[in-house]
Amino acid sequence: MSRREILLGNEAIAHGLLEAGCTLAASYPGTPASEIMGALIQLKKRYGLSCHLEWSINEKVAFEVALANSYAGRRSAVSMKQVGLNVAADPFLSAVYTGVKGGLLVIAADDPGPHSSQTEQDSRLFAHFAKAPVLDPSSPEEAGNWIGAAFELSERHEIPVVLRPTTRICHGRQDLETRPLVEVASAPLFEKDPARWAATPKFRYRLHEELNRKIAAIADDEAFAPKLLNPDALEGRERAGGTGRDCLVASGVALAHATEILQDLGLWNRLPCYQVPMPYPLSHRFRDELFRTCDRVLVLEETEPVIELQLQNRKKVLGRTNGTVPSAGELLPETIEAILRDFAGLPQIGGVQGSVGAGRRPTLCAGCPHRAAFFAIKKAFPRGIYPGDIGCYTLGLNLGAVDTVLCMGAAVSMAAGFYHAYRNAGGKPRPIAATIGDSTFFHAGIPALVNAVVQDARFVLVVLDNSTTAMTGHQPTPAAGRTLDGKPVPAVSIEELARACGVRHVTVGDPYRFDHFVELLKDAGAHTQGDQGGVAVVIARRPCLMDRSHPRDWERRSVIVNEKCEGCAFCIKHFECPALELQGEGQPIRINASLCSGCGVCVHVCPHGALQLEPRK
Ligand code: SF4
Ligand code: SF4
Repeated sequence: MSRREILLGNEAIAHGLLEAGCTLAASYPGTPASEIMGALIQLKKRYGLSCHLEWSINEKVAFEVALANSYAGRRSAVSMKQVGLNVAADPFLSAVYTGVKGGLLVIAADDPGPHSSQTEQDSRLFAHFAKAPVLDPSSPEEAGNWIGAAFELSERHEIPVVLRPTTRICHGRQDLETRPLVEVASAPLFEKDPARWAATPKFRYRLHEELNRKIAAIADDEAFAPKLLNPDALEGRERAGGTGRDCLVASGVALAHATEILQDLGLWNRLPCYQVPMPYPLSHRFRDELFRTCDRVLVLEETEPVIELQLQNRKKVLGRTNGTVPSAGELLPETIEAILRDFAGLPQIGGVQGSVGAGRRPTLCAGCPHRAAFFAIKKAFPRGIYPGDIGCYTLGLNLGAVDTVLCMGAAVSMAAGFYHAYRNAGGKPRPIAATIGDSTFFHAGIPALVNAVVQDARFVLVVLDNSTTAMTGHQPTPAAGRTLDGKPVPAVSIEELARACGVRHVTVGDPYRFDHFVELLKDAGAHTQGDQGGVAVVIARRPCLMDRSHPRDWERRSVIVNEKCEGCAFCIKHFECPALELQGEGQPIRINASLCSGCGVCVHVCPHGALQLEPRK
């Protein structure tokens, strides 16, 4: 029986997957997609389902696990954030050629803005490049409701289908209808067909021809055909003078904003508005109809001109390619309103603006062990080069302890690159201290570390091991020794992995034991400079304070500000613990007891000795 629930977009997607009989879902955490897997595990527990769910080690692995389940004839899903699709690009592009058996949904959640990502890349454009159909829901309800039809589309044409929600869909809430979840009883059936599943280049060429035929057929598959949302507007357009034969074409959140704004501006009954649920491949019938019946076509879509690029008529089409729509950033409601006012010849109340920049800069939590590790790194290697990586510890930027951030695992490869750059130039080697989180180390750090070792690079790699994937909601890493639903499994040791990668100097320390940790770093630095030296790994192990699954076992110490405080703010500028607060110019700082975690690390920061541990009573 169906019922109504208020769900987050990601929860609606999870519900839609299980309503449609998905038997396996795999993911690597990444905002804005992470809650899909979180909701799946809740539903699995609540209804005692047998589907296999996993937080995989990275998106490529997640994709391959889901693909094999699909080859065996069972509905499968893999979810990730948009940059995760870069990691999964290799199997994704090949899977589009081989095709699938059981429906395979690739859920790539985009982050226009971007709010918490390295790039604003548009997964619809990626799907176009890969030649995979892509769906662009405009609400949480559509994101969940489309999944059954998406699986059918995937199975009908034997091709992976991409579902591309954006941040506003993933994290928006809506009152929507949910239906009963489906358990699939049929056994898996993998039919051997090496010409397809293990195709050599000659067969791949034939598969490409077959793929082209599939894409042409999908373009005019009625399941996700474009639709006119306001048919009355066709008549209204003819009656209203001045707008000519104009129409609006939109998809995703841009469509949701546009429909509201058209109604507010009184344009709903005179500007035809088409929704394009499947931006690629664009319906050929729709394209031809548009050009036959319209003089001007305004296209609103995030983030790249995917629909526009398939409307090859530059004289009629207005959008990103001719500058009508800003070329970067989210299409916020005020931006869309300004564009629509221009298009309809209405007076402006503002101007066409791109996305606004971020507000207050984020900072690590009070007592975060990463802050202690970063401060220790700067102390041990004051002239160091600090390659950083992706995670909450990217905020080491604020502390001057992160010089580069590129993509998952790049800290390790870039540290090696910096080493080779300085060594080859014959100058005095600079200390290099790279940082990477525990989850990121498993995700993409290991191959980079193997490479650095065998290429004889020398640097200190600090693995910031807070025993979780903190930034995305505390998903377990392979070192946790448990799956996402708490089942015990073998734990993979970071230190043993580092040794297996060929690193001869591996130590583990607690960054809260500040002086000891600085010594560990210096020892590691000495190893990198020694005759027999190489890469040194120091594991900074201290659980994330926000992860309640770990004991809060450190001795909490009260820190007091003594009379030596000059109010110079050195501690605030260079350590940036949110519990350290300025009181006013020339005034001593104070410690906000409601924020302070009692880690005691700040006593090592003040150059005047003004911060001290309160004596034990
Ligand atoms: S505690 Fe030390 S570093 Fe911080 S403001 Fe006072 S004197 Fe400056
Ligand atoms: S003890 Fe110092 S460093 Fe630790 S949370 Fe409190 S103010 Fe911040």
